[in-house]
Amino acid sequence: MDFFSYRGGRLYAEDVSVEDTASSAGTPLFVYSRQTIRLHISRLQEAFAAAKPIICYSVKANGNLAVLKTCVEAGLGFDIVSGGELYKALAAGGDPKKICYAGVGKTDAEIKQALDAGILMFNVESEAELAAINRIAGEARRRAHVAMRVNPDVDAHTHEYITTAKKQNKFGITLDVAEKIAQRWKEFSNCDLVGVDMHLGSQITETEPYATAIDRLLDFTDKLRKTGHEIEYFDAGGGFGIFYHGGEARTASEFADAIMPKLRGKGLRIILEPGRFIIGNAGILVTRITYVKNQSGKRFIICDAGMNDLVRPSFYGSYHKMWPVKSHVPFTADESESIPPADVVGPICESADFFAKDRPLPVLEQGEYLSIFGAGAYCMSMASNYNARPRAAEVMVEGDHWRIVRRRETYEDLVRGETEAL
Ligand code: PLP
Repeated sequence: MDFFSYRGGRLYAEDVSVEDTASSAGTPLFVYSRQTIRLHISRLQEAFAAAKPIICYSVKANGNLAVLKTCVEAGLGFDIVSGGELYKALAAGGDPKKICYAGVGKTDAEIKQALDAGILMFNVESEAELAAINRIAGEARRRAHVAMRVNPDVDAHTHEYITTAKKQNKFGITLDVAEKIAQRWKEFSNCDLVGVDMHLGSQITETEPYATAIDRLLDFTDKLRKTGHEIEYFDAGGGFGIFYHGGEARTASEFADAIMPKLRGKGLRIILEPGRFIIGNAGILVTRITYVKNQSGKRFIICDAGMNDLVRPSFYGSYHKMWPVKSHVPFTADESESIPPADVVGPICESADFFAKDRPLPVLEQGEYLSIFGAGAYCMSMASNYNARPRAAEVMVEGDHWRIVRRRETYEDLVRGETEAL
């Protein structure tokens, strides 16, 4: 469910014409709908209301300050994985007492930064990291609150690059090792073990992996409590999938029904770390068609956006719906038979630079705007300057009002910080 719709053959974001934003702010352009973000947040808040969870929006999905601010206003905390994300979360007004810090490679400087900020907890991913946190907390004369991120060896049945809880993945601590670390906790006397954490992967479209993993972590929690650890938090991670095709995802209530009954009455505060669920379908990428090329029996739609703006199809083979901003809807059966499918590609010098292959699309002309849907999560946050391309601008819409929430980069931005001198 989102607030992008066609009215009279033109695409609108809430009450704003997408064509107007594109012709005024230029392309490639990310357009976000604040009402959609709020809707997804409230779906989660309502579904999990009985558990009063701490919902920590996962900054990596999309760290634009306007997105983060919308989350803060809705009462959310943040899941972070770097000092940079901590900086952004605090800059948006985030409450440090609602920030969880995951990631396998936290540096000493980042650990110190998070301790100084007074975050809720570190989700620790190795014994070496725990030792570092313990040392740095001792030096700073602070107590560190930590949760053990356990790798429950559960297959979330998602793309292999975004599955994170199988034992061959780099994430989390296996249960046997976690138990041994807990038994030797006096070696980590500057740390309080306050939680257990899991994150199974991303774009998960089944609820069953959550139930299986929670059972495994609850056994572990019992053992921790028996050995004197006061476990307050159960962090069930993120990963709730969304519609890219339509119909593949589960609702917030279905995820809640799998997670909450397992944890009811256990004296544990649930933490959730959704990213994609909140922002994925709240954003589109608008691109202008630079050329149309028909060659070797193929139709290539060449866009001014490239894999540097939206890498998911090249990276994961992901599917994104796309349709012209001035719509040819309905795309009749006759049309779909007579018009050859298209490869929608960018200008970058890589054959992996594509948004769709053999996609049924109406006749598209040079200069037209094309909208790529489901571009809110893991698109701008993964964008790069590859091929010396300035990164796209971002726009936030609310009702009939819109504003640029990140300006388009300039050529000066491309050389900022560089020098040719030796
Ligand atoms: N938490 C952690 C530790 C993650 O690594 C991620 C992303 O992979 C998330 C939360 C958010 O995942 P999603 O955007 O699928 O909800």
